[in-house]
Amino acid sequence: MVFVISGPAGAGKGTVIKKVLRRNTPLHLAISWTTRSPNEGEVDGVDYYFRTAAEFREKCTLGGFAEWAEVHGNYYGTPTEELVKKEDVLLEIDFQGAKQIKQKLCADVHTIFLLPPSSTELERRLRARGREKDEGEIRRRLLTAHEEMRQASFFDCWLINDSVDQTVEKLVGLFAFLSLSRSNTPPSYRNESLLARVQATFAVAA
Ligand code: 5GP
Repeated sequence: MVFVISGPAGAGKGTVIKKVLRRNTPLHLAISWTTRSPNEGEVDGVDYYFRTAAEFREKCTLGGFAEWAEVHGNYYGTPTEELVKKEDVLLEIDFQGAKQIKQKLCADVHTIFLLPPSSTELERRLRARGREKDEGEIRRRLLTAHEEMRQASFFDCWLINDSVDQTVEKLVGLFAFLSLSRSNTPPSYRNESLLARVQATFAVAA
């Protein structure tokens, strides 16, 4: 089974995924290719495969990506070989990639959308993590977040990340449930009124 986690930058995807994997959840986290430069502390082959645009284009032409997309002005893609694993695979990718993977693999894919509690909190987290180079970069991520929030309804499951520990618990439970039962999401993970409340803070009509 393939699990996809998407959500705006600052929703907390990286943090919760690290914690979920530390719980010995039997999942392989796919490593993507990207044309963006490494942030401080990021390691090639661990966080991403950092590649030039020419290398990316060449792999793309050879059909080497299960999905790829342009995000925040850079290319990102999941190498096909990352999906040929014995274990269940976890992809941390954007909504464009999530749609491509769902279209290709359909029933074997479960998509999860991680939401921040509000637009104000998202902006606070983006500023607090200090990873964006300048104000322009922060504005670009916030603008993309508005577009991403419009895509929530595509996903099988919505999780509002207001407490990392609770989100981790929910994800660990969800992965265990889905990989054992190979069935659909428990209904409690699609709460329309909660989604509408968060979307309203981004001025997105539910
Ligand atoms: P960042 O540069 O902050 O690590 O990632 C920026 C965005 O690119 C995030 O939304 C992340 O989920 C997305 N992303 C990372 N890897 C991939 C990938 O392989 N494919 C796609 N479509 N998006 C990706």
